[in-house]
Amino acid sequence: MSKKEIISKIQEFDTIIIHRHVRPDPDAYGSQAGLAEIIKSSFPDKRVYIVGKEDPSLRFLTELDDIGDEVYEDALVIVCDTANQERICDERFNRGKCLIKIDHHPNVDPYGDVMWVDTSASSVSEMIYELYLAGREEGLTLNDRAARLIYAGIVGDTGRFLFPSTTPKTFQYAAELVQYDFDRKELYNQLYNTKHNIARLKGFILQNFTVSENGLSSVKITKNVLDEYGVSSEETSQLVGLLGDIEGIIAWVFFVEEPDVIRVRLRSKGPVVNEIAAHYNGGGHPMAAGASITKWEEAEEVIQDLEQACKHFNQENE
Ligand code: AMP
Repeated sequence: MSKKEIISKIQEFDTIIIHRHVRPDPDAYGSQAGLAEIIKSSFPDKRVYIVGKEDPSLRFLTELDDIGDEVYEDALVIVCDTANQERICDERFNRGKCLIKIDHHPNVDPYGDVMWVDTSASSVSEMIYELYLAGREEGLTLNDRAARLIYAGIVGDTGRFLFPSTTPKTFQYAAELVQYDFDRKELYNQLYNTKHNIARLKGFILQNFTVSENGLSSVKITKNVLDEYGVSSEETSQLVGLLGDIEGIIAWVFFVEEPDVIRVRLRSKGPVVNEIAAHYNGGGHPMAAGASITKWEEAEEVIQDLEQACKHFNQENE
């Protein structure tokens, strides 16, 4: 139902502005820009813009638009991949005529006039492809650029089809997408190109990680460590997956010191971690969540909560 509503809103409006979350990842960019490409190729007369703060490491996917406030006046605004309003990049999202939320996180903040939330979707890019399938008969078309962007988003959010969120539907859509004309080899090179300083910080983490008896690993990346390796806090997103295939680790957490907050990145292979994240000003998916704290003492509390979650999980699965 919401898919049809979204398609009719897209048909109705001449100006469409697409937002996504702060600190973007390939799915945020892929869903935002992939949807924009679908609309542009289907309705060449519409004005379609993608907005938000640029992440230089994702510039290879697309460039963003810089638009004035007046553009919002009669616009349809669509927000991709963002569970709560505080995390929407560019606060002007509320200034349009109509607001649509398309997301795959738990619906903790049901905002917008139309909402399509599917927590079973591997990525919002997968949902955008599904939107295209639902609208093909009403004139939606998908060009090669859209296929590349959506494919990149799916690859990014499924960890290259590794995470359990990957379903038969994900593979089905990926198989259809790779039939479009884009350079998959080049795209993988761009997505997974690792800078030397990040590779060395990975080495440091792999040399020094510890695992608790409950199967928890916690890594504290202080400002000193970031400075020593010349790595930015944004770039630590490339490190978080690192502990996922180490024997005995069932959940892990990275604490990254930033000027004002300590960013918490939680990952799991069993214990639910987004409920813990929610206690610390955060949220996310059951097995991949984020939060923020202000003091290192709070990190110990997060670790204690995670230890308990791991312990219960182990007891239940003995
Ligand atoms: P990250 O560690 O930034 O890759 O985030 C993992 C997941 O947690 C993503 O799905 C994010 O949307 C979510 N997440 C991260 N930080 C927050 C936050 N402060 N509030 C709510 N959700 C978050």
